[in-house]
Amino acid sequence: MQKNLIENLSRIIAKLPGMGPRIAKRILLQLAQNKEKTLLPLIENLQALYDKIHACKNCGNLDEGDICAICASDNRDHSIICVVEEVADLWAIERTQNYRGSYHILGGSLSAILGKTVEDLNINSLQERLEKGGIAEVIIATSATIDGQTTAHFLAEIIKEFAIKTTRLAHGIPVGSELDYLDEGTITIAFKTRSEF
Ligand SMILES: [Zn+2]
Repeated sequence: MQKNLIENLSRIIAKLPGMGPRIAKRILLQLAQNKEKTLLPLIENLQALYDKIHACKNCGNLDEGDICAICASDNRDHSIICVVEEVADLWAIERTQNYRGSYHILGGSLSAILGKTVEDLNINSLQERLEKGGIAEVIIATSATIDGQTTAHFLAEIIKEFAIKTTRLAHGIPVGSELDYLDEGTITIAFKTRSEF
C-alpha cells in the first residue's frame, strides 16, 4: 500500500475533533480492510454530505436545502430566537427536547486571542432577522467562557436597540464550559432559569 496515501489521509483525519494520529491510522486500516462494506458506503455518504449540506440562509444551521428543517417547521415558535455559537450547541439544546423556538448560529464567539471579530460571525444576519420584526424574545446561549460572555454582552447591546426581551442562560452552566459538553438536565435547568439581560 502506498505509504503517502495513508500518511496524507491520516493527517486530515487527525485534525478532526477527538482524533489523533494513532486513531486516524487505525480508522484508515479498518477502512482499507473493509473496502466494500465500510469504505465505499462512507465515500458515498460523504459525497452526499458534500453535495447536499448547506448553511441555512435564515439561521446558519447545517441541513439539506436552503432553509433548515427547524426554520421551515410549523411546529416551532419563530418569535423566539436562541443564539448559539456552533451547530453542536443547537444539537445539545435539541437533545433536551424542551425548547421549541428557533435558533441563530453565530459560527463562533468574539475572541481577541483567535482574532475573531464581528465580521467573522453571523451577527449581521441576526440583525436582519430582528429588523424584519415578529421577534418576541432572544435567548443568548453563548458559552460560559470569557469569549462567550464577551459575545453575549456585545449581542445584548445590539438587541437593546430593538427593544426585544433578551434573556441568557444562567444557573447550572459551569463557568468555562461549552454547551455541547453538558448533559441535557443541566441545559434544561439553564433554560428554565434564564434571566433577563
Ligand atoms: Zn434555519
